[in-house]
Amino acid sequence: MTSNLYDRLLAGAESDQSICIEKDDGTALSYAELAALSGRFANFLARIGIGPNHRVAVKVEKSVEAVALYLATLRAGAVYLPLNTAYTPTETEYFIRDAQPTLIVCDPREEADLRAIAAKAGGRVETLDHRGKGSLADAAAGFPARFDTVARTNDDLAAILYTSGTTGRSKGAMLTHGNLSSNALTLVQEWRYSSKDVLIHALPIYHVHGLFVACNVTFAARARILFMQKFDAERILTTMARSTVLMGVPTFYVRLLESANLNERATANMRLFVAGSAPLLAETHRAWKERTGHAILERYGMTETGMIASNPYEGARIAGSVGRPLPAVEVRVTDPETGAILPVGDVGMIEVKGPNVFAGYWNMPDKTAAEFRADGFFITGDLGKLDAQGYLYIVGRGKDLIITGGFNVYPKEIETEIDAIDGVSESAVVGVPHADFGEGVTAAVVRLPNSSVDERAILDALSGRLAKFKQPKRVIFVETLPRNTMGKVQKNLLRERFATIYATKAG
Ligand code: AMP
Repeated sequence: MTSNLYDRLLAGAESDQSICIEKDDGTALSYAELAALSGRFANFLARIGIGPNHRVAVKVEKSVEAVALYLATLRAGAVYLPLNTAYTPTETEYFIRDAQPTLIVCDPREEADLRAIAAKAGGRVETLDHRGKGSLADAAAGFPARFDTVARTNDDLAAILYTSGTTGRSKGAMLTHGNLSSNALTLVQEWRYSSKDVLIHALPIYHVHGLFVACNVTFAARARILFMQKFDAERILTTMARSTVLMGVPTFYVRLLESANLNERATANMRLFVAGSAPLLAETHRAWKERTGHAILERYGMTETGMIASNPYEGARIAGSVGRPLPAVEVRVTDPETGAILPVGDVGMIEVKGPNVFAGYWNMPDKTAAEFRADGFFITGDLGKLDAQGYLYIVGRGKDLIITGGFNVYPKEIETEIDAIDGVSESAVVGVPHADFGEGVTAAVVRLPNSSVDERAILDALSGRLAKFKQPKRVIFVETLPRNTMGKVQKNLLRERFATIYATKAG
């Protein structure tokens, strides 16, 4: 066995008849069948000359064949490069030009666009649709199932994932076989995963959460995946009776809580609910516990590092905390300006070091150098604090910090207060240019249905609870908060939308 991630997760799978993935249509694939499918794809990749360090860019809908293509790319020794299906042709062109993939696999509907891009930027184009059909599947069907997985070391590249890039250019995070296998094997232990587990998988598979956490962990434990094309609260609720684990973004839990069918009986067979990729409101954590008796296990990670911290499987899962650093992962909180390590309880920059931390940004040596400390710690860009028990609390992205009249304001603190006000569903607080204060604290608020809470009521409620400089200068009601597919609030869009409010009305 080499350090190829495929071998680390799936060695011997070719003779394992247990079910690996069940599809929406009720059909299922055993581990042996998945190994065979990935072998056919890998033989095809090898035949067209793809091997170590070649990039395979994949912009396709979720399918079992797409998972097999991911595994085949690993087996061929090449680098898997998934792209968010929502990217426009212009965005896609940027990634293709930057990554220079040898092969681009796309949905047949986008073939013309991708061929036009490939004509300029290079690369061969094949197709694969949401049912796993297309030119790639046709070509691979004629190849043998057996494939000798290419040997790789821990330091060799396995994948490049582009960060969501809400500010500036999106960056390609280079992840090694060692990064991905260490993280998957650690989570199997930490979350007590076994071959008896059945995972409800409703996440996209172009992101770290749905691909590297959900799939890799399940494969490593030889457990079963119930593959859902998209999130559907009622289907998930009926599926829970024969499942044991759900991994979701916080929005999943908020949506499930809206269903009258969520109760202790519906979740009786479940042993683990995991949340991550965006902050889970303490309120959601509490409401879930009340309705189901289960404490959601919140964890924290990012594209560049995989998972960093997790609440414990046994022990206190604290609402509002992302838990303790995972084994072998070091976390520290530093002064963003000086890099000095801060005492317990102080808010600062979260830095991380460990076998999970990526090898750098593709084609960006200067950016890579700027985001690592000399002693190897990666500067996450997230602000947070550790408590005396070693639990980590995230306060927000560093770039979301508001500086108003020379004071630092952490949006999370204000959002927590606003969310507790009667009639408020949720909120997002941003800094907007303001002539007197530099930035004006500005709140976007979503009302609960039938609530008529207004700006005055919110400001009055906050006046006794927050220092004057932290209180919003304006409260703006919105129908919904802008979120990306992983449930993260896109504060850059709010800042753009509110950019001129203090130019027209005195704050
Ligand atoms: P991504 O690279 O798309 O996975 O985004 C990573 C970012 O998501 C982190 O740097 C955090 O800002 C945020 N994030 C992930 N998990 C959590 C969490 N449990 N609580 C708060 N923020 C989170």
